[in-house]
Amino acid sequence: MIVSMRLHATQAEIDEVCDRIREFGYKVHSIEGEERVVIGAVGVGDVTPCLESLEAMSQVEKAVRISAPYKFVSREFRPHKSQIRANGSVIGGDEFMMIAGPCSVESEKQIMETAEAVAAAGAKMLRGGAFKPRTSPYDFQGLEVEGLKLLRKAKEATGLPVVTELMSDSDIDVVAEYSDIIQIGARNMQNFALLKAVGHAGRPIVLKRGMSSTIRELLMSAEYIVANGNPNVVLCERGIRTFETETRNTCDIAAVPVLNELTHLPVLVDPSHATGKRSLVPALARAAVAIGADGLIVEVHPHPEKAFSDGAQSLTIPQFRDMMRDLKPYLEIWKQVRAAETAPAL
Ligand code: PEP
Ligand code: MN
Repeated sequence: MIVSMRLHATQAEIDEVCDRIREFGYKVHSIEGEERVVIGAVGVGDVTPCLESLEAMSQVEKAVRISAPYKFVSREFRPHKSQIRANGSVIGGDEFMMIAGPCSVESEKQIMETAEAVAAAGAKMLRGGAFKPRTSPYDFQGLEVEGLKLLRKAKEATGLPVVTELMSDSDIDVVAEYSDIIQIGARNMQNFALLKAVGHAGRPIVLKRGMSSTIRELLMSAEYIVANGNPNVVLCERGIRTFETETRNTCDIAAVPVLNELTHLPVLVDPSHATGKRSLVPALARAAVAIGADGLIVEVHPHPEKAFSDGAQSLTIPQFRDMMRDLKPYLEIWKQVRAAETAPAL
């Protein structure tokens, strides 16, 4: 159940509502907007008596039943798309977000060259893993803090905000210090301790869909982060495992409009991990733009054949430039559609 307080309700009035909810046996989570407080009530059983009681309180504007098990991330909770801000850039606004960079940060030369090239081609954020989740313990595990420092250098040189992965809550402070957005990777989508921890990370989160996770599970994981205090979550479809073997994963492109119906959180598509093949990345990128994603996160490497990870799916710099050029007409239409969606009704 979600309870929307009247504009400028006093703290005493809010407390009274919270106490009433607790009397009915529900847990209370409140979110304070600039003008209005919204309270989520979480628990089991029929909410009707509680709902009726709250609606009778003068300080309550509206109390609504939520059927889905996630509340704060639902469209019912917030009918308009959330705009997630990081260092002056916005995801979920009227500009399509392009995030690009290597899978792993490998050296100063590699990250600087990539960052400068993707910035010049129009990327608005830089990606790069310093802590890498690898299937084999013998594979490159990332430069860790050294990699974070190189990302900082690349940010200083290009102005691009940095998106980088956090794998363990023991690294949360250092990753938060060096990043503008923290990525939670597919393998950690249901690491609930980590999700709770990033509720207090003080940074927006890109939450990637687990490779065997349903859309509902993705939303429940996002709910963990929001319920633990961090409303700034961006979702990312990066392909799921199916019986198909021609691509590394199967991009569930329909997840984008499904998520746009179910949640107000912005949605990115990662065509690199979704396909595993650089030749397929531009086509999937076009599909993501056309289907209403809020942005893309794409792997780019100056020498993919020498990459320490994910070389086969990384675009070269000229290929990234070509993709950006070819996306232009699609992005024009994207902008028109977005403007029409957000325009006030006549
Ligand atoms: C990555 O972004 O390089 C990565 C490991 O992604 P995912 O968690 O989607 O596999
Ligand atoms: Mn990768």
